[in-house]
Amino acid sequence: MYDSIVIGSGAAGSVTARQLAEVGKRVLVLEKRPHIAGNCYDKPDKFGILIHVYGPHIFHTNEEEVFEFLSQFTDWRLFGHEVAANVHGELIPIPFNLNTLHKVYDEEKASRLEAVLIREYGEGSRVPIMKLRENSNPEIKAIAGYVYENVFLRYTMKQWGQKPEEISPEVTARVPVLISHDNRYFQDKYQGMPKEGYTAMFEKMLDHANITVRLSADCKDCMEFLPDRVLFEGKEFTGSVIYTGALDELFDWKYGRLPYRSLDFQFEHLDMDSFQGRSVVNYTVSEEFTRITEFKHLTGQTDTDGTTIVREYPFAYTGAKGEIPYYAILNEENQMLYQKYADLVKPLQNVYLLGRLAEYKYYNIDAIVKRALELAETIRR
Ligand code: UDP
Repeated sequence: MYDSIVIGSGAAGSVTARQLAEVGKRVLVLEKRPHIAGNCYDKPDKFGILIHVYGPHIFHTNEEEVFEFLSQFTDWRLFGHEVAANVHGELIPIPFNLNTLHKVYDEEKASRLEAVLIREYGEGSRVPIMKLRENSNPEIKAIAGYVYENVFLRYTMKQWGQKPEEISPEVTARVPVLISHDNRYFQDKYQGMPKEGYTAMFEKMLDHANITVRLSADCKDCMEFLPDRVLFEGKEFTGSVIYTGALDELFDWKYGRLPYRSLDFQFEHLDMDSFQGRSVVNYTVSEEFTRITEFKHLTGQTDTDGTTIVREYPFAYTGAKGEIPYYAILNEENQMLYQKYADLVKPLQNVYLLGRLAEYKYYNIDAIVKRALELAETIRR
């Protein structure tokens, strides 16, 4: 009846399902939640404001192939995404860049430091904070100290429960110090929102004669992952199986839980035109939440009264009912535990692991779309 089973309908699962359907495979998508689109899921709240239910998702890419693929299913509202940090009540551009430098130091000092930074790293370069801190030039050290203290330390403590030097350097390197006057959060060519939202985009992607989507369907209710084969509805299934969920969960946590960070999203609707006049403000030196997103500035929505914001409170995922694992915690110990689970899948030649959860990685949307396109290409061959 089916040639492929895709478990999960987020970006990873939906892209793979579509590409397999395009080459004539009959694809069953099993989605545990009552909706598609994974953590990209958006919907109007009761005030009619389009919200991102699982936190702000800003699409950005330099990959023409990814942009073209997604553009089959959506038009775009493209913009240069900007973020500010609230530092003791003052808003400064993030990533820290040469404009930020001029905001936090007086003109004479900022101009001197700007010249020092350009001489050291070259105009246009991107320097991770942990690298900047290693510089022995006292003036650069002082800038690094400011950025570390005012941008990274408290935000990272909130987000990860650890200091920047205790977490994987690739995490803080996502937001480097920019030796340029570019205030945008990302430097990618394409950035913005699907015009009608992410859910609408994934709906179109999954709307194909060869795709069947079952919602509120836990794969463990109709599948079994045995040591040497996969069963679907009691019979061996030899078609391709693409699993995008958490791998420890698939194997009933037999080696213990894979650690994740989770988030508690506190939404608030306010009877005012705009709360913060911009889409995202990071709270880098105060508060228990990491950031506030005001959706209308992300989506460009103008046809409603009032505004809806969300505050993000990070915490350690425990696996309790209702909690969602959002971020893998990248370190060697966790990687080793992950590998033990991945080894269980190795003998299953028709099972593929894909996505933030199944691969225990920190993928951006475009990176997982690219990976899914590649995987679908491999499977069809
Ligand atoms: N970060 C920070 N302060 C900021 C922004 C980011 O300390 O104002 C650090 C923090 O450790 C965070 C990481 O950089 O987890 C990556 O930030 P990004 O915005 O990429 O996180 P995401 O949007 O994926 O949650």
